[in-house]
Amino acid sequence: MAKALLSDLSDAALQGLRVLVRADLNVPLDAAGEVSDDTRIRASLPTLARLTSAGARVVLLSHLGRPKGVPDPAFSLAPVARALAAALDAPVRFVPQLVGPSVDEAIRSLGDGELLLLENTRFDPGETANDPALAEVLGGYGDLFVNDAFGTAHRAHASTEGVARHIRAGGGQAVAGLLLARELRFLGGALSAPERPFVAILGGAKISGKIDVVEALLPRVDRLLIGGAMANTFLLALGFDVGRSLVEPDRVDMARELLERAGESLILPVDVRVADEIAPDATVRVAARGGVRPEERIGDIGPDTERLFADEIRAAKTVLWNGPMGVFEMTPFREGTVGVARAAADASAAGAITVLGGGDSAAAAEVAGVADDLTHISTGGGASLEFLAGSPLPGIEALSEGENQ
Ligand code: ADP
Ligand code: MG
Repeated sequence: MAKALLSDLSDAALQGLRVLVRADLNVPLDAAGEVSDDTRIRASLPTLARLTSAGARVVLLSHLGRPKGVPDPAFSLAPVARALAAALDAPVRFVPQLVGPSVDEAIRSLGDGELLLLENTRFDPGETANDPALAEVLGGYGDLFVNDAFGTAHRAHASTEGVARHIRAGGGQAVAGLLLARELRFLGGALSAPERPFVAILGGAKISGKIDVVEALLPRVDRLLIGGAMANTFLLALGFDVGRSLVEPDRVDMARELLERAGESLILPVDVRVADEIAPDATVRVAARGGVRPEERIGDIGPDTERLFADEIRAAKTVLWNGPMGVFEMTPFREGTVGVARAAADASAAGAITVLGGGDSAAAAEVAGVADDLTHISTGGGASLEFLAGSPLPGIEALSEGENQ
């Protein structure tokens, strides 16, 4: 699994080298078409700054949104080029094409330490089809390939998997960028060699999307804490009435089987916060898990559960968290998630490694004000789940093997 890393290359080796970088600059745009949240751009800066300061000639690729394999002005990377230039505090050249003479000319005239961004990879139908012909063209843009796009590492696309294989077949190297390496270090480290106690917390909307993660984590963790709507299906499997809560009835048998297998390591809510409707102005009642009325819905874990979970988390040396404990987007159902977030921050402060994955979970960490207190917040939603479930990620598999690791 040890992959070649950008951090293993010297500045001298990068000086004057044409380096093709695949980043994840898939940022949200506002109504005026400007970047409304530059988190992903900032996450890409360490790799880009390392390369330009070493004097590399950087050709940068990314996708944005889901255009249908044809150019679509609504998904142009032009505003991203402007936001990237501002974040880097350096000029960013932009060519509104992915392939063609103007691209070739721009690459030829690129100077040492300069950066060129090409147009959205998904404007070309060959991208998601992982067309070898497109991979070959892209492979011609650099003598070294750096993949820093963890968020798309679970997809075998021409600008991720295809180009890495092409460059390696031609004798070149394909390495993990600084951000990707960080993801591998923290997510991979939690799975392969966690310091114990290792406590995982899972929540969110559905058990079905995360069943493989539960399966992969169960034999590795000391404790698996389950909250969110995911817990409802388990509560149903234990025979508790969950009223009109969000559940997956077709997963109850599976939940029961997991409970039997997990024994004491799997901990479910002992109480919940319920309301007649999940709404921003809902009146909330705390109920024991056996006390949910038929007309009620579970919107959050209860205060006793919050304490139970927080105690486990604070005692941990490794904490892995994916999925909010309740409908944290609405104030009445926020407390369980905030409680868990604060406990994770406390664990961090006490020296534990705390890793958070998932788009909504990252938003929840912001809401709870602990985003800067955790060890690592993964930039990949689907990719982090697949990685945690133990699935090989094509974008990572395709990279060169590392030495002496
Ligand atoms: P992530 O993006 O972090 O992987 P998910 O997408 O799996 O997380 O789940 C997040 C969603 O789960 C949130 O929108 C939240 O409102 C919802 N959720 C959590 N608990 C409940 C619940 N008890 N009932 C309904 N929805 C819930
Ligand atoms: Mg989500």
